[in-house]
Amino acid sequence: MKNFDLIVIGGGSGGVRAARIAANHGASVALIEEYRLGGTCVIRGCVPKKLMVYASRFAHEFEDAKGYGWSIGETQFNWAQLKLKRDHEVARLEEVYRKNLLAAGVCIYQGHASFVDSKTILLSNNETLSGSHILIATGGTPVANDDYPNIEYTIDSNGFFDLDHLPKKVVIHGAGYIALEFACIFRLLGSTVDIIVRGDNILRGFDSDIQSQLKKELIQSGINFHFGKNIQSIARLNDQFLVTLDDDTKLDANCVLRAVGRIPNTQDLNLEKVGILLDSKGAITVNDYSQTNIEGIYAVGDVTNRVNLTPMAIREGHAFADTVFGKNPRLVNHSLVPTAVFTSPEVGVVGLTEEQALIQYPELDVYIAHFRPMKATLSGAQDKVLFKLLVDRATDKVLGFHSIGHDTGEMIQLLGIALQMKVTKKDLDATLAVHPTAAEEWVTFR
Ligand code: FAD
Ligand code: NDP
Repeated sequence: MKNFDLIVIGGGSGGVRAARIAANHGASVALIEEYRLGGTCVIRGCVPKKLMVYASRFAHEFEDAKGYGWSIGETQFNWAQLKLKRDHEVARLEEVYRKNLLAAGVCIYQGHASFVDSKTILLSNNETLSGSHILIATGGTPVANDDYPNIEYTIDSNGFFDLDHLPKKVVIHGAGYIALEFACIFRLLGSTVDIIVRGDNILRGFDSDIQSQLKKELIQSGINFHFGKNIQSIARLNDQFLVTLDDDTKLDANCVLRAVGRIPNTQDLNLEKVGILLDSKGAITVNDYSQTNIEGIYAVGDVTNRVNLTPMAIREGHAFADTVFGKNPRLVNHSLVPTAVFTSPEVGVVGLTEEQALIQYPELDVYIAHFRPMKATLSGAQDKVLFKLLVDRATDKVLGFHSIGHDTGEMIQLLGIALQMKVTKKDLDATLAVHPTAAEEWVTFR
C-alpha cells in the first residue's frame, strides 16, 4: 500500500489548491478525483456558465448597436457551435489543472474514494492508499429528493451543460443563484421562461432593495414568475412536458430545470466508519482550521457548507495546506464576502444588507442611486442601475455595497478591497470620480 503525507479526496477548487500548496511545502500528496479535474467550477459551474452568460448578452448588444448608427443584418445563434467551443475550453482548462498538479509533484488517481479507516482510503479499483493526513474536498451536488414529483423529467445544472439544443420553452424551479442565472441565459437566447418560486421573493439573504429591483428587471425582460407555487406533477407528452402547479396552473415545457439548491457530497464516503461528525444538512463539521472531529482529517469547500463559492474553497484549501504543511497557521475570514450573481442585469454585493445592518447599527445612513446608464440613452434600452451604500453614522464606517447593473460583478471586486480596508464615507467622498462612468456614483453620494 502506498503511503502519503496527504491524501486529497476531490479535484475541485479546494482540493486542487490544497494539493498543490501542500506539495510545494514538501509533502508527498495523492489527489483522487472520480469525474474530471477542475470540479464543479471548471467543469459544470462558474466557467462554462459565464461563457454562456457572455453568449446570451450579445442579444442586447445587437439591439443596442442599432441606437448607435449600426445596421445589423439578421442575427442567428447556434447552440451546438457554442457548446462545442465551450466544451473545448473546459477540456483545455482541465488539462491545465492536470499539468499544474503534476508539475507540483502530486500523484493523481482517477476513481471514487471512500474511507476504510481514519488513515486508509479505498479506490474504486480496489487499490488502497494510506495517508497521515486526509483532506475531504468532495464539494456538493444538486438536491434530488426522492419525493420530488416526476424527477425523471427534470434536469439539474449538470444537465444544463449537456443540452444539445436551445429549448423553446423552459420551466425553472427555484429562485436562487442558479435558477436566475440560467433563466437569463435562456431568455436572452430566445426561450420562453417560467420560474416557479415557493415563496414571494428571489435571492434569499440578499438586500431587499436588490431583491425587488432584480425581480422587476427580470419580469421586464420577459421572464414569467409564479410566486407562492410549487410543482405538483410533470407529465410527458411526446417530446414535451406538461408541468402542473399546486394551484392547477398548467405550463408546457421542452425542458424543466430543477434548481432548488445543492447538498454536500458526504454520501458514499463511508464517513460513519470513521465517526466523522456531520451537521443536520449533511455537511462536515469543522473548526476554524478546517479540522474535523477526527485527528488528521480535514475538510474544505462546499462539503463543509460554509460559504459555497469557488474563491472560498480555494482560500480554505490554501489555508489548510499552509497551516498543516507550511508551519504557518492561517485562519479564513468567512465574512465580508464579495459576490456576484451573473443575471442580466448582474448583481454585485459585499457587506451587510440593510436588514442585517439595522440590527447592529441603529443609526444607519442609506444612500441609494437609481439611474439610467448613459449607454441606454441612445440605444433606448430600459436598463436601470441601482447602487446602495450603507454607512454607520456614528463611526462613518461603510457597512455594505449593493448593486445591480452592467459590470457590477467587476465593480464589487474592488469595493470588496475598500470594505476590507475599513473604508469610511469620508474616504469615498475624498476619492475623485472617473467621469463619465457608472461607478463614479459610489464616490459622489452626498
Ligand atoms: P467541487 O468543485 O465541487 O469539487 C469536488 C470534486 O470532488 C468534484 O470534482 C467531484 O467529482 C469530486 N468527488 C466527489 N466525491 C468524490 C469521491 N468520493 N471520490 C473522488 N472524487 C470525488 N461559485 C463562484 O464563486 N462563482 C460562480 O460564478 C459560480 N457559479 C456556479 C455555477 C453553478 C452551475 C454551480 C453548480 C456552482 C457555481 N459556483 C460558483 C459554486 C462553485 O462551483 C463551488 O463553490 C466550488 O466549485 C466548490 O469547490 P469544492 O472544491 O468545494 O468542490
Ligand atoms: P440556492 O440555495 O441559492 O437557491 C435555492 C432555491 O431553491 C431558492 O430559491 C429556494 O427557495 C429554492 N428551494 C429550496 N428548496 C425548495 C423546495 N423544496 N421547493 C421549492 N423551492 C425550493 O441554490 P442554488 O442551487 O441556486 O445554488 C447553490 C449555491 O451555489 C449558491 O448558494 C451559491 O453559493 C453557489 N453558486 C454561486 C454562483 C455565483 O457565485 N454566481 C452561481 C451559482 C451557484 P427559498 O429561497 O425559499 O429557500
